[in-house]
Amino acid sequence: MRGAFVDPGGDLPRLKAAMAQHGVTIEKILLTHGHIDHCGEAGTLAKELGVPIEGPEEADRFWISRLDEDGKNYGIRGAVFEPDRWLVQGDTVTVGELTLDVYHCPGHTPGHVVFHHPASKLALVGDVLFQGSIGRTDFPMGNHQDLIDAIVTRLWPLGDDTAFIPGHGQMSTFAHERRSNPFVADAALASA
Ligand SMILES: [Zn+2]
Repeated sequence: MRGAFVDPGGDLPRLKAAMAQHGVTIEKILLTHGHIDHCGEAGTLAKELGVPIEGPEEADRFWISRLDEDGKNYGIRGAVFEPDRWLVQGDTVTVGELTLDVYHCPGHTPGHVVFHHPASKLALVGDVLFQGSIGRTDFPMGNHQDLIDAIVTRLWPLGDDTAFIPGHGQMSTFAHERRSNPFVADAALASA
C-alpha cells in the first residue's frame, strides 16, 4: 500500500482524501512535465507529505521557475520548487516494489517524460498523447515534429497492447490511437 502522486497540479484536499480513503502511504511525487496544471501545487504537497519530487527532465526548468507568475496570471495556485531528481531518457523510478521506465518525450514541453510499467503494459503519458489527440505544441519551446517523433519512436515500440493514462480525458490504448488518432494514426502519418 505504497504509492505516488503523478502530476498533482492542484486539488490537494481531494488527493489527500483519496490517500486516506485507500490507506495508501505516498512515498513520492512523479512529474511528467512542468506545466502548472500538472505541478502547480507539487512543491506544496511534497513539503506537506515530506516526500521527494522526481521529474521531469531538466529542460522543463523554465516552466517550473515561472509557476508563481503563471499562477497569478491564471488565478490558480502555483509555487516554484526544485525537484529532488531530474530524470533523463533511460532512467527508472520506483514506487513501492514496482519499477517504471522513463522515456523522454519532448514536443509538448522540452523536458516532458513518460512513465511505463512493462509488466502492467501501462503508461502514464502526461500531455504527450490523448485519446483522439496529441499535446499542444504552440507553447514556448514546443515542437510539433519532436512530439510526433517521440510518440512514434518512444511510445509505439512499447507495444500496441499498452494502455495509457493521459494527462487529460479518458484512457486509451496505443493500438486504438494507431488506428484512429487523426494526428498519429499509422495511416495519417503515412499520408503526411
Ligand atoms: Zn501540459
